[in-house]
Amino acid sequence: MTNRELETKLEILVQNEREITLEILHLILEVERRGLHLPFRNLQTYLVKKHKYSYGAANRRVQAARLLKSVPGAEEKLREGDLNLSTMAQTQTVFNRVEVSEEEKAEVVEKMCGKSYQENEKILAALFPEEAPVKETFRRVNAEDSRLSILLEKEGRAALERVKELLSHSHPGASWAEIVTFLALDYVKRKDPLARSKTDGEKKSKAAVKRQALQRAEGQCEYINPETNERCRSRHRVQVDHIIPTARGGTDELENYRCLCQPHNLLEAQRILGKETMDPYWPKH
Ligand SMILES: [Zn+2]
Repeated sequence: MTNRELETKLEILVQNEREITLEILHLILEVERRGLHLPFRNLQTYLVKKHKYSYGAANRRVQAARLLKSVPGAEEKLREGDLNLSTMAQTQTVFNRVEVSEEEKAEVVEKMCGKSYQENEKILAALFPEEAPVKETFRRVNAEDSRLSILLEKEGRAALERVKELLSHSHPGASWAEIVTFLALDYVKRKDPLARSKTDGEKKSKAAVKRQALQRAEGQCEYINPETNERCRSRHRVQVDHIIPTARGGTDELENYRCLCQPHNLLEAQRILGKETMDPYWPKH
């Protein structure tokens, strides 16, 4: 196959795919009209269970079909590639929530022609500031896990980045999921009256917490070289100490403990207290 043949073949198939997609959307509307999906929770679930679509793919098709139904002109735009399933579904999701006349819908579809998902998002946000799609989802992935998708503004992002830095000793290499979980549990522990009585009862002695810190570190130094991001892992004279000294408001909670080998303990002390104070304690050899 020459390059030219390859591209021609692809072009033909892409065009066919659009035709087939259109046909599928019409058939989905017909299924709905006949109520064939009624044994299922909704039309999307029907498509997932019966036709093996992923939920996202099923939902895009259902929403796009609804847009096709209310804006007949959209059909030609989809055939020509000026609209796609993603942008159609994105727009219909907004139409589901707002009262929009048929004329207005047609105008919106006109505006979204040839636009990317991101560009369309801006158009919708400008037209329907109150109802702009909120990109925030909490979706169950399986019985135990969920996927959370949120839009963070600059301030929130910066604060989270800072938390990650502050936790880099006690939770080296923690993922965002671990960090958000840590913050949530920490908040609940401090603020939730239901949780508080329980933790009071379980309050651990300082020695027990230190032991836990050592176990968590597997008895190894937790110092992370700021240049290579590698953890030291030395087991030489590992000591457990506070990340933020108690004199400076640090707590006796597990999170505020870390394990450091002797050289790194001195290095950290030097950083915090100043070189002069700590110089006499450096091992001389
Ligand atoms: Zn070390």
